[in-house]
Amino acid sequence: MSLIGNYDPENIFAKILKGDMPCVKLYGDKNVLAFRDGFPQSHGHCLVIPKTEARNLLDVPPDNLTPLIVQTQRLAKAVKSALKPDGIRIMQFNGALAGQTVFHLHFHIIPIYKEDDMKSHTSGKMADMDALEKIATKIRSEILI
Ligand code: 5GP
Repeated sequence: MSLIGNYDPENIFAKILKGDMPCVKLYGDKNVLAFRDGFPQSHGHCLVIPKTEARNLLDVPPDNLTPLIVQTQRLAKAVKSALKPDGIRIMQFNGALAGQTVFHLHFHIIPIYKEDDMKSHTSGKMADMDALEKIATKIRSEILI
């Protein structure tokens, strides 16, 4: 999908928001939802999405950006405490040509480890929910109130 177009209410993240698709939830409030990426590129890969319908960063009303980036920072800090990575990559793609595959705005939080290569974007098979949940429990316990 190019940068021009309408929001598809049937995209995967819209379905997750409606409760029509399962996810391993990390955090939710009236503005945002954070959950485990189903195809993690590294140990602890998470996603943070707004509850507003926006395909990408260019579409989202500016007021909705504040809670989104604040919660992204909060989750990244929880990932840092829980998993002790050597670095954390925050990624965000706009449009298919830029690498976007799900057309609901999201920030990736990808912990980076010295000893572990990050897997490529959009590869592999979906992770086991129990394995995602095990790490999610650790991350949740480090989210500061
Ligand atoms: P994008 O390529 O749009 O930046 O990122 C979309 C992300 O959504 C990818 O990292 C991909 O692994 C993740 N993803 C795709 N389908 C699902 C799904 O059904 N559940 C979850 N939790 N993540 C998904």
